[in-house]
Amino acid sequence: MISKFNPEQALLEGARKVFGENGGVNSSIHPSTTFTTLDPETMSQMFKGELSEAGCYLYGRHFHPNSLNLGIQMAAMENTEIAYPVASGMAAITSVIKQIVQPGGHLISSSNVYGGTYAFLNNLAPRYGIDVTFLEEMTEENVRESVQDNTDMVFFEMHSNPTLRVTDALAVSKVCQEFGLEMMVDNTFAPLIYTPKNLGATITVHSGTKFLNGMSDGISGVICCEHPLLQELMDLHEGELMLSGPVMDPRSAWQLQQYIQTLPLRVREHSFRALKLSEHLESLGRFQVIYPGLESHPDHHLVNLQANSGFGYGGLMAIDLETYENARKFVMAIQNNGWGLNAVSLGYYHSLLSISGSSTSSEIEPEMQEKTQLSQGLVRISVGFLGSLENQVEGFCNALKSI
Ligand code: PLP
Repeated sequence: MISKFNPEQALLEGARKVFGENGGVNSSIHPSTTFTTLDPETMSQMFKGELSEAGCYLYGRHFHPNSLNLGIQMAAMENTEIAYPVASGMAAITSVIKQIVQPGGHLISSSNVYGGTYAFLNNLAPRYGIDVTFLEEMTEENVRESVQDNTDMVFFEMHSNPTLRVTDALAVSKVCQEFGLEMMVDNTFAPLIYTPKNLGATITVHSGTKFLNGMSDGISGVICCEHPLLQELMDLHEGELMLSGPVMDPRSAWQLQQYIQTLPLRVREHSFRALKLSEHLESLGRFQVIYPGLESHPDHHLVNLQANSGFGYGGLMAIDLETYENARKFVMAIQNNGWGLNAVSLGYYHSLLSISGSSTSSEIEPEMQEKTQLSQGLVRISVGFLGSLENQVEGFCNALKSI
């Protein structure tokens, strides 16, 4: 293990416990969209950006007390100076990219990323004058070879969606440090398991919609970074967050803050079950099972090298059933036997299954899917924890018999 950092302890100690009104054990929701100042001079100072973001509120799109509380909690967990909640994972990713990579700039991204991110980088980024190089293998050498004079940022997901490849973040960060590049890491698939900041990331982003939420009942995102970048993002004249406006509503921020309290428990259970299920399905010897916790996984050693201890290998696994027709039969069998749902997204308490090539990765062209070993029969499974593990394993094995 690379570090002794314990994100669970950091969450407990570093996140400020804010009591609610009347001493409520839960903090309060602050729905106000605008805030008074006692002296117009204070407001004028805020508009000039002369007051720090903590404790001074101006207008809900800029910042509000529930953003602050959730931000403190997320920054503690991700070991960054500060964190800012936004309306979705895509808002987190695209706001940071647009702030940092100016027209004429260049970004290096793994091609193994969520389909929506890929579509943004491939289709929309060029409209903002951003040049993108996609790498099929996110290695130190490949990144080094792709650096150009105008490169600003390197981007990848800790566990890639959906092929679950793991990047050697420390090696990539060496290149970033050498050339002064920002390294932005999407940690959506493996919160707590990794602390990207400790592996050299300068920015960590999350789709809070997934494990952070855990109930599949709220869309959200979080940007975890250092003070100067957040100040730029929130700048009243040039900040992407202030001017594009992807703020997280106070009610959503409050809800997410509540749910995160159970994240360590949930991640451990998701990981434990995903490991057992993947070991079992692999032992049947019928189809390739992809899970970073399996010794057969090409990047197994990288997880052991980079992960925080005690949270396992994550709740996502995949099984390559070779053809779309096989994948379809399997997913329908699971849905019919009650052990999961055919739905996108992840981190829910029930298992969610999707055939990635024709759903969440369908934005990626067929040639690129082939290059990144994304077969048409690949079923991504977000392993839930309803029912007993024994029955769950049996349910999945029975579904395989339908092929
Ligand atoms: N990052 C990853 C790894 C994802 O899987 C997703 C969505 O599936 C996103 C980002 C986008 O998040 P959101 O749907 O919250 O915008």
